[in-house]
Amino acid sequence: MTLRISVIGTGYLGATHAACMAELGYEVIGLDVDTAKLEALAAGVLPFHEPGLPELLRKHVASGHLRFTDSYAEVAAGADIHFITVGTPQRADSQSADMSYVDGSVDSLLEHITGEALIVGKSTVPVGTARRLSEKIAQSAKQGSDIALAWNPEFLREGFAVQDTLRPDRLVYGLQDGRGLELLRKVYAPILALDTPEIATDLETAELVKVAANAFLATKISFINAFAEVTETVGGDIKVLADAIGHDKRIGRRFLNAGVGFGGGCLPKDIRALQARVSELGLSQTMGFLAEVDQINLRRRDRVVSLASHMLGNELAGKQVCVLGVTFKPDSDDVRDSPALDIAVRLYNEGAEVSVYDPEGNANAARRFPRLNYVDSCKEAAQKADLTLVLTEWNEFREMNPSDLADVVASKQLIDGRNVLDRPEWRKQGWTITGPGEYFEL
Ligand code: NAD
Repeated sequence: MTLRISVIGTGYLGATHAACMAELGYEVIGLDVDTAKLEALAAGVLPFHEPGLPELLRKHVASGHLRFTDSYAEVAAGADIHFITVGTPQRADSQSADMSYVDGSVDSLLEHITGEALIVGKSTVPVGTARRLSEKIAQSAKQGSDIALAWNPEFLREGFAVQDTLRPDRLVYGLQDGRGLELLRKVYAPILALDTPEIATDLETAELVKVAANAFLATKISFINAFAEVTETVGGDIKVLADAIGHDKRIGRRFLNAGVGFGGGCLPKDIRALQARVSELGLSQTMGFLAEVDQINLRRRDRVVSLASHMLGNELAGKQVCVLGVTFKPDSDDVRDSPALDIAVRLYNEGAEVSVYDPEGNANAARRFPRLNYVDSCKEAAQKADLTLVLTEWNEFREMNPSDLADVVASKQLIDGRNVLDRPEWRKQGWTITGPGEYFEL
C-alpha cells in the first residue's frame, strides 16, 4: 500500500519536504495554519523562491498526490506518518527557541489521532524536546491510539533544498526503543538506495547532531571573519589565507569566506538557542564560545557600516546609497536575520537614501522595511549612487563588469561585502573598491 504522509507546517522546510515526499511516490497532505500560504500551494504556486521546487509542486498537485489542508482531523485520518516541520524561531524575550509551534502542532495531532501513527519531528529543537514530547504523547494520546515519536533533523540548505532533500549527505533518526525505524526506512528507501549514510540513534543525539552541525558551521564562518578583523588592521589577503589553510584536508576550504557574516532563519537562532539550552542544563560556560561567534558575526555588519560612512566622508545624511542584495544568501528570497538587509536599514537610519535591488528578495524585505527604495535592476539602484554595496553574492552581481554601473553612479565607490568581485579589474577602471578582510584605514 502507498505510504500516506502528512507534513505539518509548509514553510521553507515543510513545502520542500512535502513535494519531495510526493516525488518519492507517496500520498502527501501538507497542513498549515496560514491560509494564504495554503491557497497558493494548493493552486501549485510556491509562495517563496526555491530553485526546482515550483516544478515539483506543480507536478504533484496536478497529479493529486500532493494536497493541502488546514484540518488536523483530515491529516490524522489521512496519513500514518506525520512530519513536524513548523518553525522554532528565537523568542522575543530571550535567546531560547520558541517551542509553542512544535507543541501546538503535536497537541493538535494528539486530539485527532485515533489509531496507529508515527510522529517524526524535523524542526530544529533544543535537546530534550523529543523526550518531553514523548511523555506528552504517553499522557495525552487518545485511548486506543498507538503513537510513536522519532526525531529526524533536517540539514537542507535554502537554494539547494530539493537536491539536499532527495540526495542528502546523511539521514539521521533519533528513536525511542527502536520504534519507527522500520517505517522511516520504508519512507527513505529510495534515498537509502543511493548509498546515503544512515545514522539511527537515540532522541537526544539526533537533536544534538543538528545544532552541533550548525554551531560548527557558524564557528567556521566567524573564525575566518576574526582573521578578517586582523588583516583589516595589519594588512594581508584573507582569501589567500583561507585558500592556504583550506588546502589542509582537516580544515577544508568551504565556509571560510570572509564577508558580512551569516544570517537567515537558522544559524543565528540555533547558536543562541543552544547556549540557552545548555545554560538551563547548568552548563553555562560550555557553549560560551558561541557568544563570541555571535559577536564576531555581528561586528561584520558594524564594519561595513563604518566603511560606508568613512567612504562617504563620515556623513551619511542625504547620500545616495545603492545596495545590491538583501537576502541572507543567494538563490533564496529569505531575509530573516539577513546581514545585508540589516546593513541597508542601518545606512537608512543614519540618513542615507537607500536604493535596493535583489533578484528575489525585494518583496520580503519591503514587507519588513517598506521605507527603503526597492527597484528592479542593478542599474536602477545605482542611479546617482555615491556608494554601491554588494551584500549578497548572487551570480548576477558576481558577473557584473565595472563598466556596467560606471555611467549611472555619481561616484565610483564600491564595498564588495562578499569578496566576490575582481577588485584589481575594478580599480583599473577607476573604482575605489574594498571589502571584508582588506586593510583600509578608517
Ligand atoms: P517557516 O517559518 O518557513 O515555516 C514554518 C511554517 O509552520 C509556517 O508556514 C507556519 O505558518 C507553520 N506553522 C506554525 N504553527 C503551526 C501549527 N501549529 N500547525 C501547522 N503549521 C504551523 O520555517 P522554516 O524555515 O521552514 O523552518 C522550520 C523548521 O525547520 C525550523 O525549526 C528550522 O530551524 C528548521 N530548518 C529550517 C531549514 C531552512 O533552511 N529553512 C533547514 C533545516 C531546518
